[in-house]
Amino acid sequence: MTARLLRVDPWNPDPGLIDEAARVIRGGGLVAFPTETVYGLGADGTSATAVAGIFHAKGRPADNPLILHFAAPELVAGVAVVTPSASKLMELFWPGPLTLVLPSLGVVPREVSAGLDTVAVRMPSHPVALALISRAGVPVAAPSANTSGRPSPTDAEAVFSDVGASVDLVLDGGATSVGVESTVLDATGPDLVLLRPGGCPVEEIEARAGARVLLSGGDGRRSPGVRYRHYAPRVPLLLNPTREEVALALSEAGAGARARVAWMGLEGPEVSLGDGTVDLELSVLFDTPENYARGLFHALRTFERLGADIIAARLPDTDRGMGRAVRDRLERAASRSHENP
Ligand code: AMP
Ligand code: MG
Repeated sequence: MTARLLRVDPWNPDPGLIDEAARVIRGGGLVAFPTETVYGLGADGTSATAVAGIFHAKGRPADNPLILHFAAPELVAGVAVVTPSASKLMELFWPGPLTLVLPSLGVVPREVSAGLDTVAVRMPSHPVALALISRAGVPVAAPSANTSGRPSPTDAEAVFSDVGASVDLVLDGGATSVGVESTVLDATGPDLVLLRPGGCPVEEIEARAGARVLLSGGDGRRSPGVRYRHYAPRVPLLLNPTREEVALALSEAGAGARARVAWMGLEGPEVSLGDGTVDLELSVLFDTPENYARGLFHALRTFERLGADIIAARLPDTDRGMGRAVRDRLERAASRSHENP
C-alpha cells in the first residue's frame, strides 16, 4: 500500500477532504495530518485494532502510550477524571501544545495507555487537526508520524518517507509551526509534574496558571516513552563538540578527506572545528530558540539527505522558554545510551 497524499489548505481545510479523512479514521484506518507541533499519525482511539495499526506502522514499542486528541475540552470527561488543576490548564492553554496526563476512567483500549491507569489528552489548535478530529467524532490517538526513533516529521515529505507505505492517507498542510511535540504534564494530583518539555514553555504555565511545575528529571517511570531512543538522524550527532571529538567521530564514521560536517545552532561553533570542516552548504543558524525548535527536525533530516558525515549542533545556552524543549530533543537525538525501539 502507498498512502494517498492530499494537499489541504492549513487555514481553511476543504470540508470534502476532511470528510474523506474522517471516514478513513472511522473505518479503522490511519491518517497522517498536520498539527501545530509536528505531523500526527491518527487512528480511532476507541478501537483497539485501529490503535494497533499505529504501533505497527511506526514500529513503536507497545509499552509507550499514546496521546488522545479531542476537538473540545468537555469531551475529555468521557475518558478521564478532569482534576481541578487540569480544568484550569485546559481553560488557559487549549487548544494548544499542552498534553495532560490524567487518571483514566478505564474506557479507552489498553493499547492506548499501554496498560497504565492514566491517559494523556490534548486538544490541538491546528485547523486541519481540529476539523479532522471533530468530524471523526471519536478521540483520535496520534503519536508523531515518524518511524519510531527517527526525527519527528514537520512536513508531509518526512511523513511520506517514513510511514508512506503503511498509512492510508497523508494530509499535506505544509510545514508545522511549533516544530517540536507538545509539553506533557502529569496533572493527576495536586502537584504538576513535567514529563516532557515541549511547545508550551514551563515558565508560561507557571506564570499563567499561578502554579509550580515540578521537573521530574524524566526517570522513565512516569513517562514511559522517555527511555527509548528518539529523534535520531542516521548520521552521528555531536553536541557542542571539540575539534578532537569532531575528528574522532569523522574517523569512526569512515569519512574520507572530503568529510562533510553539518552545523546548526543559535550561533556558530565556539571553537574552531578544524579548517574548513563545517560545510557552509550544510549549516543553519537560527535567530531565536522558537525558530530553532521550528527547524531542528527538518534540519536533521535535510543534513542526512544531503550527505553529511556527521552533524554538530550547539545547544541553546538557556533552559528557559523553548530552549528547554530544544535541549531535550537534541540531547535525546544525540544519545547513544537509550534502548532502540
Ligand atoms: P508522542 O505521541 O510520540 O509524541 O509521545 C507521547 C508522549 O506522551 C510519550 O513520551 C509518552 O510516554 C507520553 N505519554 C502518553 N501517555 C502517557 C501516560 N498515560 N502517562 C505518562 N506519559 C504518557
Ligand atoms: Mg514521537
